[in-house]
Amino acid sequence: MIEDKNPSRTSISDLGEFGLIDHLTKNFKIKHSSTVKSIGDDAAVISFENECVITTDLMVEGVHFDLSYMPLKHLGYKAVMVNLSDVYAMNATPKQITVSIAVSNRFPLEALEDLYEGIETAAKIYNIDVIGGDTTSSNKGLFISITALGHALKEDIVYRDGAQDNDLIVLSGDIGAAYLGLQVLEREKQVFKVNPQSQPDLSHYSYIIERQLKPEARKDIPELLKQLEVKPTSMIDISDGLSSEILHLCKHSKVGAVIYEEKIPLDPTVISTCEEFNMDSTTIALNGGEDYELLFTIKQEDYSKIKANPNINVIGHITQEKEVVHLITRGNTKVEITAQGWNSLHKNKEN
Ligand code: ADP
Ligand code: MG
Repeated sequence: MIEDKNPSRTSISDLGEFGLIDHLTKNFKIKHSSTVKSIGDDAAVISFENECVITTDLMVEGVHFDLSYMPLKHLGYKAVMVNLSDVYAMNATPKQITVSIAVSNRFPLEALEDLYEGIETAAKIYNIDVIGGDTTSSNKGLFISITALGHALKEDIVYRDGAQDNDLIVLSGDIGAAYLGLQVLEREKQVFKVNPQSQPDLSHYSYIIERQLKPEARKDIPELLKQLEVKPTSMIDISDGLSSEILHLCKHSKVGAVIYEEKIPLDPTVISTCEEFNMDSTTIALNGGEDYELLFTIKQEDYSKIKANPNINVIGHITQEKEVVHLITRGNTKVEITAQGWNSLHKNKEN
């Protein structure tokens, strides 16, 4: 379905491992003084004066992405985003990443160039140094693992376990779109299998497809909160869906929560696509994943500082009832929420 923009094929083995690493990383520029030694030695050297936060994500072909509709450039970009999102969710600033890849001989050099173009673009936009990684072969498919390092003052770090009774639950942006984008891409893939000549018009779905293929980490939210002088009491990023993330916050903080259906922010494309697919938009918002929005709690007294901001919405509040999360529906009924977050381990078992 995605046009092959790089029809030439250079075998990776022609360059050898060191030639390959040099070739892929030659354009990376060091931006931070905390990066003392980057690619090229046995290990990188970092010098942080404050706390260092570290996070890793591993993405596996066929489990986390499908290259029949995920262009490699976007995959590189997204692999960086999912890690940066975790750093922002600690209220920290990402500074460096390492990139490890395993590829089968199905991938030519040009494919890895595309992957690294996406990584480089993300590193430029988000002001990140690429300081190392590992390169190896796989028997089948592509694996990409990125580790991100960030820094923060000790007193600024926000954990999952700080939510307290009566705190407000706040969400950045809107949710559900990335999951629906995936549904549209999956549908088109099936259509394409039957009729490879089909030229689908996906312009109507551009927002939700972009949310799936080119997510952005919410760099702006920790900055905004600092500016507003609001320190969240707890925070998490939405990778697996709102319901499972709220349950994580509640579990770690030993509290419960109430959220209001009418307050869950949805993009109009999510609503129209849900109608088309005959899906319930609230179910999608609660259980879809990969939105990479930030979910956090704040003290009631901070409400006046955030209420005017269109980028963040209060969707509920924390309660004393341990690990019990209720949804108040538009019809004013109370339903208990259980986690059905997108879970690649479950998906694997079904295959
Ligand atoms: P070693 O054998 O000592 O682990 P490598 O030959 O794997 O070293 O790597 C050489 C240098 O290139 C190291 O600085 C490493 O961090 C970096 N590197 C290796 N693979 C990648 C990659 N895929 N992306 C970025 N840097 C990499
Ligand atoms: Mg190595």
